[in-house]
Amino acid sequence: MDCVGQDPIDDQDLDFQRCLGDRPDDPIERVGGMTRRQLMQFCASVAATMGLSTAAGIRMAEAASAPARPPVIWLHGQECTGCTESLLRAYHPTLETLLLDVISLDYHDTLCVGAGKQALDYKHKIMEQHRGKYVLVTEGGTPTKDNGIYCKVGGKTQMQLVREAAEGAAATIAIGSCASWGGVQSADPNPTGAVGTHEVIPGKLVINIPGCPPNPYNFLSTVLYLLTFKKPPALDELARPKFAYGRLIHENCERRPHFDAGRFALEFGDQGHRQGFCLYKLGCKGPETYANCPAIGFGDVGFGSWPVGTGHPCFGCTEKETGFKKPIHALATVKTLTPPIAFPDVAAQKGEGMSPGAAAIIGGAAGLAIGAGALFLKQMGEKKDVQDSKDA
Ligand code: SF4
Repeated sequence: MDCVGQDPIDDQDLDFQRCLGDRPDDPIERVGGMTRRQLMQFCASVAATMGLSTAAGIRMAEAASAPARPPVIWLHGQECTGCTESLLRAYHPTLETLLLDVISLDYHDTLCVGAGKQALDYKHKIMEQHRGKYVLVTEGGTPTKDNGIYCKVGGKTQMQLVREAAEGAAATIAIGSCASWGGVQSADPNPTGAVGTHEVIPGKLVINIPGCPPNPYNFLSTVLYLLTFKKPPALDELARPKFAYGRLIHENCERRPHFDAGRFALEFGDQGHRQGFCLYKLGCKGPETYANCPAIGFGDVGFGSWPVGTGHPCFGCTEKETGFKKPIHALATVKTLTPPIAFPDVAAQKGEGMSPGAAAIIGGAAGLAIGAGALFLKQMGEKKDVQDSKDA
């Protein structure tokens, strides 16, 4: 069976195992430091996380290894560069190399080797040569007050630069909470009138990947989808990809059994805090925040590496009206009062003497299982490859 050109939705019977075979004449050889097998497994896990078929994963792998890579222009506005840092300092070394192999990062405000007029001339050249074909990525908020004079590059305001670049872009992605909603700059009283990218280019679709910083896999999965299917993945009403922002943090949080049992930390460092109790009363915004942080963590480190996992309340950075807007001490609106049925029975665990920690682990495992497909499969793939090389 030919592995190329299959419809990812209709063809569920694709021979994935056969496609995994390392064939010397195959066009997919090594991308981002990955072998064909690793790339196939990685893309299959990305597809699974996005709710797509294995066939879609194979299509993604082929798109990722195509010689023609889409040019990317990456602009920085008001921000700390944390989103770029998070992408480039990934724990798995293949992540940033894969990303840089999949796209052609032709212009990046802060990573450019060139500077000044030389760099800006090059950016304009790319924009002219690839008009209608390049992807625009914006990082950082855009100030609008006083005609946007509070953030300028090369004599132009960020507002002008975003509009100019978005004009000829095939797609625009806002990475991070600042580019999505304005971020910390837009906190009351918002002295520079900072807003998200979509607000300065009304009428153009901007895919928002919020987070402070967002997990690099959410960005990479979105890019792979765009590259493969030439259209954005399913988005919610805030233009966030549903595969990453479709569930409340509170649904899958490892501390959720403590919430359901009424066990809360009341102060930082108190007995409840030290025992890993729920952080709701410390202002955790997990109950009103949609994101997959409990499942895939922050950055590329993996499970447990996210604010709530380390004892800090979620502050809702992926929500337009919560992160940087709602004070950390304010209690979140609880949208789901009914505990998920997959979580352990609270009464039974009390009667049988199950420790709060054990309940948290069991409850957390149920949540982790929902969104952890990509990392788990990736790690399994890595282990298998190690075993394969030992066997060889
Ligand atoms: Fe987790 Fe926060 Fe929900 Fe408590 S309130 S279960 S810490 S998300």
